[in-house]
Amino acid sequence: MSDRRAFLKGVSVAGAGVAMASAAGAATKVAVLDGTPAAALKMSSQQGIIPGGSLPEKLAKMEKWGYDGIELDAGIVGRVEEIQKALANSKLKVSAICAADGPYIVTDEAQRKRAMDNAKRILDAAGQLGSTGVIMVPAFNGAQGQLLAGEARKLLIDMLRELGAHAVQAKSRMLLEPLNRGEAYFLRQLGDAASICRDVDSPGIGLMGDFYHMRIEENSDMGAFISAGKYLHHVHLASWQRNQPGSDQRSFVDGFRGLKWIGYQDYCSLECGIKGDREVELPKIVTFLRGQWEEA
Ligand code: MG
Repeated sequence: MSDRRAFLKGVSVAGAGVAMASAAGAATKVAVLDGTPAAALKMSSQQGIIPGGSLPEKLAKMEKWGYDGIELDAGIVGRVEEIQKALANSKLKVSAICAADGPYIVTDEAQRKRAMDNAKRILDAAGQLGSTGVIMVPAFNGAQGQLLAGEARKLLIDMLRELGAHAVQAKSRMLLEPLNRGEAYFLRQLGDAASICRDVDSPGIGLMGDFYHMRIEENSDMGAFISAGKYLHHVHLASWQRNQPGSDQRSFVDGFRGLKWIGYQDYCSLECGIKGDREVELPKIVTFLRGQWEEA
């Protein structure tokens, strides 16, 4: 059998993702600085991706498939007790809440207040559920009355100081999510979000990285996560085509090296389409990403 046929056989047996990982060859394992805590891959998924009618049903499937956390939506407000009950029967924790809708950085003061009040309500529920944070996008492209550049940054920092103080009391945090330029021009890179967190200087404010947007905006996955450093508290996982990890050529190894370098302690969570049967694909994703983590 030719090498090529042997490779194709490997694909059909192990699944395309796993074969691509091994085809990438032996990689240098990343060295980390002394004193950096050991990072671990804690797998999570957005709730909507998981098959099942009820939250307990979804949690049971995720536990069986090797997931550690679940990312919930803003519908947690008013449902805290019911969700706590479901979590009490599961090993899974709440990774993050997606999301507290904006826009935030706009001229309309009433809209800014609406966004802030909404974020505070979600933060209160998120804290009761032990969530690492509540995701926010300062403004999507096309938001009415959106401020730009320096004006937007200054306003955002003021708003984040107030939200940060509320988040500390609620025992959670707001997480800035940089997007790609097709969705939001204002905040596109993790290092920029980290400099905003630094200037806000509140333990209630952090950021997250999304592998899908990072492919478009970052020069280096590893460099982006190192720039994010201590402010990084959540990660979204998706392939180039924004489907499940392992479904195309997107490698997670360089990014995972960055997470190991900073001693990342929070979750990596699916935010992607799933091609194929979810019951089959969702456990395969965990195996694929654990392989990529090992390689990093
Ligand atoms: Mg995302």
